[in-house]
Amino acid sequence: MIPASSRFVIVGAGMHGLSTAYHLSVELQQRGIGSGADIVVLDKTAPGAGATGIACGVVRNNYFQPAMSELMQACVEVWESDPAAYHYNSVGYVALGPRAQESDLSAVFERHQRIGYDSSLYVGEAEVDRHMTELFPDWRAKGVTICLHEHQGGFAFNLESVKGLADKCEAAGVSVLSGVEVTGFELGDDDTVTAVETDRGRIAVAEQVVIAPGPWAKHFWGMLGLPMTIDIHTPTGDVARDQPMWTYWNLQEGEITVDPLMFDTAAGGAPPVIHLDTDAPLYTDDGRLITDELWGIYYKRDRHGVQGGASPLTVDGDIELDPYPATTNVDDEFPDMWCAALSHAMGRFEGCRPLYKQARSGGVGSFTADNFPVFDYLKPNVYGILDSNHGYKMIGVGREVARVICGDSAPLLTPFRFERFATGDLHPVSNSPYPWS
Ligand SMILES: Cc1cc2nc3c(=O)[nH]c(=O)nc-3n(C[C@H](O)[C@H](O)[C@H](O)COP(=O)(O)OP(=O)(O)OC[C@H]3O[C@@H](n4cnc5c(N)ncnc54)[C@H](O)[C@@H]3O)c2cc1C
Repeated sequence: MIPASSRFVIVGAGMHGLSTAYHLSVELQQRGIGSGADIVVLDKTAPGAGATGIACGVVRNNYFQPAMSELMQACVEVWESDPAAYHYNSVGYVALGPRAQESDLSAVFERHQRIGYDSSLYVGEAEVDRHMTELFPDWRAKGVTICLHEHQGGFAFNLESVKGLADKCEAAGVSVLSGVEVTGFELGDDDTVTAVETDRGRIAVAEQVVIAPGPWAKHFWGMLGLPMTIDIHTPTGDVARDQPMWTYWNLQEGEITVDPLMFDTAAGGAPPVIHLDTDAPLYTDDGRLITDELWGIYYKRDRHGVQGGASPLTVDGDIELDPYPATTNVDDEFPDMWCAALSHAMGRFEGCRPLYKQARSGGVGSFTADNFPVFDYLKPNVYGILDSNHGYKMIGVGREVARVICGDSAPLLTPFRFERFATGDLHPVSNSPYPWS
């Protein structure tokens, strides 16, 4: 049964919807102005049915943009607050790059130091080699001249962390309802949403709505009557007219089935997540050239092997998202490329191509016009958490949004307001080949 009315309606039971619901219940309780019983979360499928449930789960603070870096520090704080419930593995994260990325990663490191985020920087091929071979004696990627080793961050198990959050919500009295699809919004004369329409009936909204729809962001954008194309004002005063507000990318991910313990550090410990970008030519183990242009991969120890991905593929135009993530279109070359890259990085992965697991992996992500999140009120009482596919790691955004809903300001979210496209307050762009760095 769905309730006839609720003070707060949250749409989407992924990372953001659940984190917002849980943190809002805490805020209401602590301020003595309500409890989890005032909140209902709706999901058309079930908790974790969207991008959160298939995320690689990497948690890192390698962000060139000051606002992303500061927000991520707050998110890591939330991960670290309850690693058991969130199934968080604080193994760290190592980003390695070629000369072209030296200035970006150095700037990130300097900011880490300013904000008190624990990381180390290694510059120059010899220093990088020394650090990496100390960690992994079979490290063999050459021509890598910069390495940023985050001692915080790491990864979490996707569906387990969703369950951890959902359990916290339910313990706080929040109703998390599966199988309820939101089909529209009823608007009052002042443009506020007065009710949420669903396929199971109408829920009157007493106070506020939060939408956290992940890849379905464009669909909700349309439901709220927001513009599908926008003018983007850049910091230099240029204007790019009529740009699509939403685009899609296919994220390519895969895994090899090996004993997970074969991927360990020299000391026998759990390895950090590795992200390698390089312009060294990439060959398969039998000598076929895959590419001689800049390429990149990331990988981590998983429950049943080693899992990771590579640069995503752009999607032309629109896409059918349901049933999610059935639209995944992984490049046929991906297994060859990813396994060759693992072997390029570490001798232990030589010959791993036959161990590539042919399983559905990866999925579609939805991106904003500048590839950064929009966290903002979209109607007077509708807050949008539209993370531009940055956000499994962003568990702390829900905590910030809960404070906004309770009337506080949230300076960490201000740089992500929609208005930035009109005012030109865009985020700086890095030299990384990924749309989310
Ligand atoms: C393959 C892949 C790997 C990724 N890896 C990482 C990573 O390692 N680290 C990282 O930080 N990020 C990663 N991301 C990005 C991250 O997964 C997403 O940014 C994040 O999970 C989005 O969370 P969300 O709560 O906004 O949306 P989702 O988790 O997608 O949740 C949205 C929910 O809304 C529900 N819904 C949709 N429409 C309706 C409707 N009409 N009515 C009711 N409910 C509805 C859906 O069923 C879904 O459960 C990855 C993404 C992909 C696709």
